[in-house]
Amino acid sequence: MMPFMSFVQFAFVNNPMRQFFQQQKTCLLQRLIKGAFFFSFISWATPGYAETFKLGLPIDCNIDKDCFIQNLPDAIIGEGRADSFCQGATYDGHKGLDIRIISMDDIKRDVPVIASASGVVKALRDGVEDRLVLSDEDKKALENRECGNGVVISHEGGYETQYCHLKNGSVSVSMGEEIKKGDLLGFVGNSGFAAFPHVHLTVRKNGTWLDPITGRKPALACMGDNPPTPETSLLDTKALEVMTANTTRLMLSGITGAVPSHDDFVKSGPAVKLGKEDTAIIGWAWFINIRKGDQIRFTLEGPDGLIVTNTTDPIEEQKANFSAYSGKRGKPQSGKYQLTTELLREGKPIEKSLYIEILE
Ligand SMILES: [Zn+2]
Repeated sequence: MMPFMSFVQFAFVNNPMRQFFQQQKTCLLQRLIKGAFFFSFISWATPGYAETFKLGLPIDCNIDKDCFIQNLPDAIIGEGRADSFCQGATYDGHKGLDIRIISMDDIKRDVPVIASASGVVKALRDGVEDRLVLSDEDKKALENRECGNGVVISHEGGYETQYCHLKNGSVSVSMGEEIKKGDLLGFVGNSGFAAFPHVHLTVRKNGTWLDPITGRKPALACMGDNPPTPETSLLDTKALEVMTANTTRLMLSGITGAVPSHDDFVKSGPAVKLGKEDTAIIGWAWFINIRKGDQIRFTLEGPDGLIVTNTTDPIEEQKANFSAYSGKRGKPQSGKYQLTTELLREGKPIEKSLYIEILE
């Protein structure tokens, strides 16, 4: 019998990055309008505006399919971290929302970064290269250009939105240009201070940043048992719908013939498929925002039935990025291979994927 390979290897990259009020104008016309009509006009015109400034997602993609919510804002001022829902999908001092694409290889898909609300372009930058920031030297080289290629849009009511890490050469708006909600600003990239390709959105009002999910200043801490509603959030209904306290996702899984490198996942996505010349059969999976205590269960089957099944020990701490694998040495024969990956929380599967490969 072939020996088991050491069955779980993990690695993680702790993300090193990290309404307008339309003033009601009294005009001469109003003063001329007869009393009764005037009052009825006021009664429908006054409310609304404070609530009508709502932000859409800053990206046009299929959430949980080809793009994922990686980081929420840090709701705690000073030391420690907690995301908008009092969970751990953030890092200390993160002032925005990060929506990622899977790997550097996906940058070439030209995933649109779009305006979250209508406004005017106030600032922009392009020309910063797309590269993973991995070392302190990389970080230092980006001093004052942390946002990389980016756009700032000013909106009515003192609001501002900032979009960061756009693809080099993709910024498609100009200074002073009027932008409508949903307009293309550029494409998702990895410029500036970014350890994975994503768009970062910061929202400010009169210079103070706000959590777009809760609509609150971070000093007010996370929402706990009082989750954001369409009324309290700065996000529109559609954008708010995809924000959830549970940001844990199984992003990718597959079967390969050699021990996969976690660092290669963010560079090029899935590991090379199983090949006839390989000397091992290995199932792997890559997760984001995995929590303390979570476990991964692999069931790998081949043409002759079960190859290996394994459940990892509970994860020791929350990890923004996590990958694991399980396999067996030996030359693969032709036929159908199947990997079932389950992410267990308190013993129950909360994420599951099935990967099938036919080896000719
Ligand atoms: Zn960010």
